[in-house]
Amino acid sequence: MNARFGEFGGQYVPEILMNAVIELENAYSRCKDDTGFNERLSELLRCYAGRPSLLYYAENMTADLGGAKIYLKREDLNHTGSHKINNVLGQAMIAKEMGKTRLIAETGAGQHGVATATAAALFKMDCEIFMGKEDTERQALNVRRMNLLGAKVHCVTSGTQTLKDAVNETMREWTRRVSDTHYVLGSVMGPHPFPTMVRDFQSVISREARQQILEIEGKLPRAVIACVGGGSNAIGAFYHFIEDAEVELIGCEAAGLGVETPQNAATIANGTTGIFHGMKSLFCQDEYGQITPVYSISAGLDYPGIGPEHARLHQTGRAKYAAVTDSQAVDAFEYLSRTEGIIPAVESAHAVAYAMGTAGGYKKDDIIIINLSGRGDKDVASIARYKGEDLYE
Ligand SMILES: *Cc1c(COP(=O)(O)O)cnc(C)c1O
Repeated sequence: MNARFGEFGGQYVPEILMNAVIELENAYSRCKDDTGFNERLSELLRCYAGRPSLLYYAENMTADLGGAKIYLKREDLNHTGSHKINNVLGQAMIAKEMGKTRLIAETGAGQHGVATATAAALFKMDCEIFMGKEDTERQALNVRRMNLLGAKVHCVTSGTQTLKDAVNETMREWTRRVSDTHYVLGSVMGPHPFPTMVRDFQSVISREARQQILEIEGKLPRAVIACVGGGSNAIGAFYHFIEDAEVELIGCEAAGLGVETPQNAATIANGTTGIFHGMKSLFCQDEYGQITPVYSISAGLDYPGIGPEHARLHQTGRAKYAAVTDSQAVDAFEYLSRTEGIIPAVESAHAVAYAMGTAGGYKKDDIIIINLSGRGDKDVASIARYKGEDLYE
């Protein structure tokens, strides 16, 4: 297995984690081409997660925007409400294979924490989740869901009290207890083999979407659009289209209050090469290599780095990345709700916003697929607060 994507990726972990990372790499190598493993995982994805997810023709949106035909890949319909479950079920099976009895994970918006707690309940494993204090407040509903599922949620109060600090704390906990614990990393980031393994588990999205669009339309899309935090739903949506040179791949990162302000999480727009959280990639950092605080209305995109495969796709020009502001994302959140009757996660709304701005420029027989990474129930309260209409207080 290749640990790098061009110069990016690698395995920059403290000595004490080296064995755990190698054990994981070996376990994943054994499982990834094992027919039994893949059949069990496919069966779980089908009967538990609800796959394949629908590829829905957004007819109202298409008519309204007056350009390309827009399709939504409905990852929001998966069990637990986002694409996170695709990765978590795979990793939980590998943890079992390694004889681990305990799962730990970081979470931003809480979707990855909920998915991990769900898998732990299903597989009868202990589960502890690390979440920044700021995120436990803006995503209080998901904290309660994790508790209901039997997980313990640790409130992280270091740093900016968001996703980066939750990752730090989970890595620290893994270092303390590697013998019985697997760290279920939630995105295509961290040390090898995580970026490759998580990408493989998420690539089910484009495997299905490619087949579905060929069945429905008899041709490939002009563009595939997805939001990018660490980049797992995007790489999952891109992967099986990478060899199709005519398909544009577009990742939408969080511009927060604007890429020119200090309040954004636009890693591709503003980042430089560095090493952090076990990988070489692009990061928002100062001239001394200190990670700078980032901001987005969306807890799931509020991360100062990007997965190494995206850094490579950006470098080679195979994928393009655009920055979408909070205000554009909130408009898209409301637009999709009213136009199609689908409330998207505020993360996914970044991809919807980009499509709203560009669909009109395509021809009518062009097709755009937007990956709808999650559903927006979790965001209803915080968007109301953003608009000055407090719901619950
Ligand atoms: C976690 C999350 C994201 C961001 O993570 P990626 O690894 O970039 O996909 C995006 N959308 C939703 C709904 C999420 O839960």
